[in-house]
Amino acid sequence: MICVSIVIITVMINHPKVDSTTVWPDLAGKFLAESRIVRHDYNHNTDNHYCVELLQQTHPPPDDPNNDPRQAGWSEQMQYFLNGYRSGDPRIQPVAEGRSEVQGPLPEEVDVLIVGTGPAGLLLAAQLSTFPDIVTRVVEKADGPLEVGRADGIACRTVEMFEAFGLAEKLTTEAYWINETHFWGPAPEDKSRIARLGRVQDVRDGLSEFPHVIVNQARLLDFLLEYMHNSPSRLGVDYGHETLAVKVPEAPDERVTVRLRTAEGEKTVRAKYVVGCDGAHSVVRESIGRVPQGHGEDKAWGVMDVLAVTDFPDIRFKCTIQSAEAGNILLIPREGGYMVRLYVDMGNIALDAWLTKEEVLAKAQAVLAPYTFEVKETAWFSVYRVGHRVTDKFDDVDDDQVENRTPRVFIAGDACHTHTAKAGQGMNVSMQDTFNLGWKLISVLEGRSPASLLHTYNAERHVIAENLIEMDTRWSRAIGAAQGSDDPEAAMKGLAEVQRQFVTNSEFTAGFATHYTPALLTGDDRHLHLATGFPPGRRFHSAEVVRLGDAKQVHLGHVHRADGRWRLYAFADMVDPRSPGSRFNALMDYLASDASPIRRFTPQGADPDAIFDVHGIIQQSHLEVDWADMHALLKPHKGPLGLQDYQKAHAPVPGTDRDIFDLRGIDRGAGALVVVRPDQYVSLVLPLDGFDELDHFFSRFMVELD
Ligand code: FAD
Repeated sequence: MICVSIVIITVMINHPKVDSTTVWPDLAGKFLAESRIVRHDYNHNTDNHYCVELLQQTHPPPDDPNNDPRQAGWSEQMQYFLNGYRSGDPRIQPVAEGRSEVQGPLPEEVDVLIVGTGPAGLLLAAQLSTFPDIVTRVVEKADGPLEVGRADGIACRTVEMFEAFGLAEKLTTEAYWINETHFWGPAPEDKSRIARLGRVQDVRDGLSEFPHVIVNQARLLDFLLEYMHNSPSRLGVDYGHETLAVKVPEAPDERVTVRLRTAEGEKTVRAKYVVGCDGAHSVVRESIGRVPQGHGEDKAWGVMDVLAVTDFPDIRFKCTIQSAEAGNILLIPREGGYMVRLYVDMGNIALDAWLTKEEVLAKAQAVLAPYTFEVKETAWFSVYRVGHRVTDKFDDVDDDQVENRTPRVFIAGDACHTHTAKAGQGMNVSMQDTFNLGWKLISVLEGRSPASLLHTYNAERHVIAENLIEMDTRWSRAIGAAQGSDDPEAAMKGLAEVQRQFVTNSEFTAGFATHYTPALLTGDDRHLHLATGFPPGRRFHSAEVVRLGDAKQVHLGHVHRADGRWRLYAFADMVDPRSPGSRFNALMDYLASDASPIRRFTPQGADPDAIFDVHGIIQQSHLEVDWADMHALLKPHKGPLGLQDYQKAHAPVPGTDRDIFDLRGIDRGAGALVVVRPDQYVSLVLPLDGFDELDHFFSRFMVELD
């Protein structure tokens, strides 16, 4: 049943009166994101406020309220005007001093040179683009942006990451949402037909507030390009620039030399750091002598994006389809409501064999028979064939040199790991690689961390790549075993194993299996009992809270922007947070003092939250405690006008099934401090009075700035 709720929006800007008829449905999301939403039982009508009634369709509450997709993209509110009022789209940031609206020609010297504009390269470029003091350039051998095809699966974890760029709403609006995966095989009563043998919910309840979605790689890259273009550095891509070779100098203070071929001839660029996001045949990888290791080519898969007319009933569900005689396909519905992608297993064919789209389609039709499948248009066709490989190391420093040298060249994405498309991980793991690297480069280039921090990139990501290949191999084997067995019982067992593997691997495919082990940037579990839902090494699992300053219900994790800052979430102890005797207040006093890491590692003259963004979560309802009663650290004055930040103090959502203290296992007596890295992974859980541990942790990889 669909219910209808009424939301009253109070527009806080000088805007002509808006009513429901002037808010077109597809503009409503954008409009709401920039507006201030007030509950309908509140009365905020004043002369300056205009009210809008908007009918918003919602769905029945899901079993787990924290998995409620209604929150996706809407719960975060943009903060802007800190540097003064500016008209126009707030997503387009003012161009930084010294930068121009249109990027100039490629300079001879840069800080970071990114090679390749696939998902890995552009995610990194987007993150660096918000730091105009860092000279970043992106080179790409193709003449323009990708237009069609390639990968399409976007895991929940990736959508969480996109929320940090403010792009999750756009992505989820355009995308196809995978709600269930269906398993088809030979019908038990008539093997010549296929029948649906199972259906599984794609993402388990409570795993993330975001869905698993499908959107074309080219569209996803468009979002990142637009983000870069709207950033203060107006970062663009130098297309038609093919990297030929990369040379690392002996001296640590000399730059890496990169030789490029362009239409005008060869060019040389010198960069402090080079990141090779140049795909499976990476030239950067070869230049630094790194070698992909693993086993050979996988079977060939014909991939087609088609608009088709069919009587196959599950055409809008993701399906694995195994026929008794004709082979198997993976069917993935696509964004827009009509298109589908078929991955058609073409078996072990000769490397130089040429497959036509007619051959691939004929095979798909044979698998789907007796259902009909008439293609009206083919949007993209390719034959995709990869092996399972992991490159030996993801930077240019040999293991025996780690103590003496720091990395200057990195590789990421397919340059580091290749695997089949079956588990839909290509884009996802590639972007997670560079999200891991981006903040570290920023920290080092801004002088906040020693260059040795960069060793952690390989240390953390190499093991993730190995796990990925292991999972993909298991998954491929399960699918392989289910294929073409003459023994019906063995075939049924094989299909059951495919389903079992699907469920077992679901945390991995959703992107949540990453668990960094205790090391420089990750603490151990010694205080985990204080916040059992935030294990160190895992991504910060968001839950909803009510913002004290304006009673807006938000996802706590969505305060986390891709801005290179650390987040400190202080969950209050049981004592009234207004009492000076509470541990919560004692922590705030410490963090505000000169002894705290915040003071020591934040540059003089910068905003108090420039490096560490502290949020307080109290146990009381927002109706009991006022924002004004909060500690001054949670109400900092910032920016050139000294404006106050109202968005750092939060209360639980009422009800034990929605209260963040219950959902994430926070010790209500003692409270907890949860320290989160700039790439959204939990570093530490500490007691509220764990001052020394906090200080010791940051002192390991941060340096005091003048
Ligand atoms: P890529 O997306 O490969 O990006 C590398 C970029 O670097 C490219 O833009 C390339 O032009 C550029 N480049 C390469 N060499 C140089 C150079 N020397 N100088 C400058 N630029 C350079 N995955 C799926 O899940 N399903 C699919 O059906 C699928 N099909 C694919 C089809 C093709 C043709 C390719 C190449 C990949 C496909 N993939 C597919 C894989 C998926 O696209 C990748 O896993 C994912 O894009 C990895 O991202 P990346 O940024 O590491 O590398």
